[in-house]
This record gives sequence, structure tokens and C-alpha cells, in this order.
Amino acid sequence: MQQHDIDVFRNQSVQPRQHLIDGKAQAASDGQTMEVISPIDGQVLTSVSRGTAADIERAVAAARKAFEAGSWSQMAPANRKKILFKWADLIEAKAMELAVLGVRDNGTEISMAYKAEPFSAAGTIRYYAEALDKVYGEIANTDPAFLGLIHREPVGVVGAIIPWNFPMMIGAWKLGPALAAGNSVVLKPAETASLTLHRMAELALDAGLPPGVLNVVFGEGPVVGEALGISMDVDVLVFTGSGGVGRRLLEYSARSNLKRVFLELGGKSPHIIFNDAPDLDVAAKAAAAGIFRNAGQVCVAGSRLLVQADIHDDFVAQVAKHAAAFRVGDPLDITTQMGAVNSARQLEQNLTFVARAAEQGAKLMTGGNHIMQETGGYFMEPTVFSNVAADADLAQKEVFGPVLAITKFSDEAEAIALANSTKLGLASGVWTSDFGRAHRMVRAIRAGVVHVNTYGGADGTVPLGGVGQSGNGHDKSMHAFDKYTNLKTAWMKL
Ligand code: NAD
Repeated sequence: MQQHDIDVFRNQSVQPRQHLIDGKAQAASDGQTMEVISPIDGQVLTSVSRGTAADIERAVAAARKAFEAGSWSQMAPANRKKILFKWADLIEAKAMELAVLGVRDNGTEISMAYKAEPFSAAGTIRYYAEALDKVYGEIANTDPAFLGLIHREPVGVVGAIIPWNFPMMIGAWKLGPALAAGNSVVLKPAETASLTLHRMAELALDAGLPPGVLNVVFGEGPVVGEALGISMDVDVLVFTGSGGVGRRLLEYSARSNLKRVFLELGGKSPHIIFNDAPDLDVAAKAAAAGIFRNAGQVCVAGSRLLVQADIHDDFVAQVAKHAAAFRVGDPLDITTQMGAVNSARQLEQNLTFVARAAEQGAKLMTGGNHIMQETGGYFMEPTVFSNVAADADLAQKEVFGPVLAITKFSDEAEAIALANSTKLGLASGVWTSDFGRAHRMVRAIRAGVVHVNTYGGADGTVPLGGVGQSGNGHDKSMHAFDKYTNLKTAWMKL
């Protein structure tokens, strides 16, 4: 990646977008649009259709029609695979255009977004394309007088509601297995990061995905998200986002057709540093990167740093030093390490957490401010608090911003108790040279993933999912197919 390649796309005008329904651009039923604001300068980037419940109905009907017609669901797996591979190739061929568009839309630093968005999405789509004809049914080991066959079938129409922090990466985590399994999808991107997912869906059509199989409806969560949630013709709803909206989706399901709902929610992930960490300098850098990349808007961010007492003061000083040195700035500058916060609302929420942390007795080590205000963008300093009480808001609630909470512990038992002291359980990390301790911690921590002597970056071969109030079901790996397929038994008398 070179700066001049980025600059080619940086100022390109972005045409207004309409929903993509049944393979065609379609305006909202009432013709309304909504502005897309760039977090880089607070200016209007473009506009998109403001979806209505009627638009969702249209999209769900198109998805159902395509599913029933079998244009995709009944296509020979080898041909489905070819189209998905071609789609991944098209995404990669347009990687820089997509990455820059996404950064202008959501503010993530390009040094992260370039790989984490188009390339990650293409990789995920390829992973499921490769896998789709390697998922077999089963023959049960049953009474020889009978034959028990277990078929795995697509569920039908999938509704996918996507957040704004990594729209292409997270979108592909849903679209890859859902489409590979033969389903049709209606996708609702987040209001503040919708443009790349829409472009990706256009590229899917170019690759040969039949019309109606992948539909994109823009709009506000409480309007189009709810319409998708209460649709009587959506079979499975998949979601990444906040716990509050996750709860609503379960209610929508109960109020409508009892569709299955799979939730990937937030975290307050403990990142634990023992005094026998193999390299405390490396650990300190990882602790900073683990919370400040993408301005902390990472579901698995190591937002609670737990540090053993005898190394605490030095280690905290190191982390604060790395935080203060983190290069915050124009997310389209290749050297920027932390870009803009996604929206004015998110920035305000982050600053409220900062104020509350100070009120609750935490010690501000560095940061805490809205910076670069002259740009009109939503930039914030990397912020570190030490002395955070285990029951303080900053230790219990997800900020989803560049704010690190540090708490001291004395021994392994206390580290485990602190690690498990929230209702969330998405990710975690442990730094230790003691092999036995590493395994004990992996067993003891209630979380979907435990990193050991590294933080983040688990690839697509392993599942990501939360326990407790961090969600149900898994993205990534072969396990993701479970959400998008039904098991059907054939019980035959021989
Ligand atoms: P959000 O829950 O506000 O929005 C997510 C999506 O839900 C958006 O598309 C939004 O339009 C939609 N939505 C909002 N209100 C809705 C409603 N009433 N009905 C239906 N849909 C509605 O979350 P966000 O602010 O976009 O994302 C940040 C949150 O997502 C954080 O809490 C973060 O931890 C979580 N997250 C989790 C993971 C994970 O893998 N577990 C990954 C990324 C983000």
C-alpha cells in the first residue's frame, strides 16, 4: 500500500446510493433519503435511501422468490463456488477503492482498514466457497431395519444486521457462510457505515450472483432493522452490535415467527499481564494496540488491563507512554495509527465515560480529550485510566472507544475473579511464561476466546462468539454453517 494509491480515491465524489433489491437500484417507497456524514471532517459525503418497512417487505419478497426459484439455492455447488470465488477476486481487485470509501464513511485508519476490510472480506468469502461442497450429510448408525439420513439444508431467507466498525469484515462473516449454504439474504448496514457493503453487493451481481439472492436496504435501525426483525418471512436473523439492540431482536422474533436469532454482542475483555510475561515491552505495546486500533471500536478490544501488583507501576507507565505516542490523525494518511471515532454520538458517549471514570476515582494517566476540533472531525486522544475499581462503570460497561481501564491484582485467583466479574464474555488475553498457568487461565476465563502471549488477530479458521451477555452462536470457521443450515432427518424403512 502506497500513499499515492490512497490519494487517487481520497477526493472522488461519491454518488448517492439506492437500495439494491432484486438486482436493481430501488428508491425508498416514499422517496426519502438520508445524509451520510464523514467522521473525518463532519461534512456530508453523499446520501442513501432512507428505508421504510415497505422496502424491507419488497426485499424479503425478492429474497424469498429467488430462494424458491432455486436460481442459487439449487445451483450445483461447484457453480456456486465459482461465483463466490469470482466475487472475492472482484473485491480484491477493487480493494483500495473499497478501503478508501469505507474509511471516508466510518473513520477507521487505512493502515488497518485496507487489510481488515476488503482483504479480510474476500478471504472469508473464499473460505466458505472452498468449503461449500465439503460439507456432507450423515448416515446415522441406526437399527439395520431402517435407514436414517441427516440432510443439511439452507434455512431460506436470512436477515443480516451489520454494525459500523468493520462493515465488510463482519458483513462477510455473515454473507460468506449464508450464501455458500444456498440461502438468500436481506442485509441492513449500519447508518454510519453502509457504502462499502452496498458496493460489495453490486460486485456480487457482477460476479454472477442471481438477482434477489443478496439485497441491501439502507435505513435506520429502529425502522428497517425492526421491519426485518418482525418479518414473518425471514427464517434466521443474524446480528452484530450492541446488547440493547440484541435484546430487541429477540423480542421481534417472539412477536413474529419465532425466527432463530444469532447475536454477536459487545465485550469488556480482560487483558491480563502476569509478572512472568515472556516480554513485558512486547506486552505493553500489545496492550496499547489492543485497545487503540480503530479507536477502540473493536468488539474484542482488550479494554480492561489487569496488571500484577509487583510490575504494575512500571507497566502502566509503559502503556501510558505507548498511548501518548500513538499517532492519531487523518485516517487516510498511511502513517496514522488511530483514525476518527465513527460518529459525533459515539464521541460524546466516549467523553461521558471519561468524565464518569474520573468521578468514580480512577486516575487519568493520559488522554481524555476531543482533539483536532479545527478539522470538524471526531478525533479523540488515546486515553488510559489506572486505579479503576472492579465495580466502576469503566470496568463493567463497554465504551467502544479508545479508553483503557487498568486494575491491579495480586495473584492468579484474583486475576480470574476480576476477569470474570462482568456479565460479558467475548475475548480475553493472558501473558505468562508458565505453561501450566496459561492452560489454567484458558479454562478459568469465561469468554469466547482467550489469547495467550498475543492479543487479537485470530484468523478465519477459528470461531468467534461470546458467552454470557456477549451473545450466542459463532461467526468464522466451519461452525458458522450451523446458523445458516437446518438439519433434516429422513427415516426410511428398508
Ligand atoms: P448498534 O446495536 O447500535 O447497531 C448495530 C446495528 O443494529 C446497526 O445496523 C443499527 O442500524 C441496527 N439497529 C439499531 N437499532 C435497531 C433496532 N431497534 N432494531 C433493529 N436494528 C437496529 O451497535 P453499533 O453502535 O452499530 O455497534 C457497536 C456495538 O456492536 C458495540 O457494542 C460492539 O461491541 C458491538 N460489536 C460486537 C461485535 C462482535 O463480534 N461481538 C463486533 C462488532 C461490534
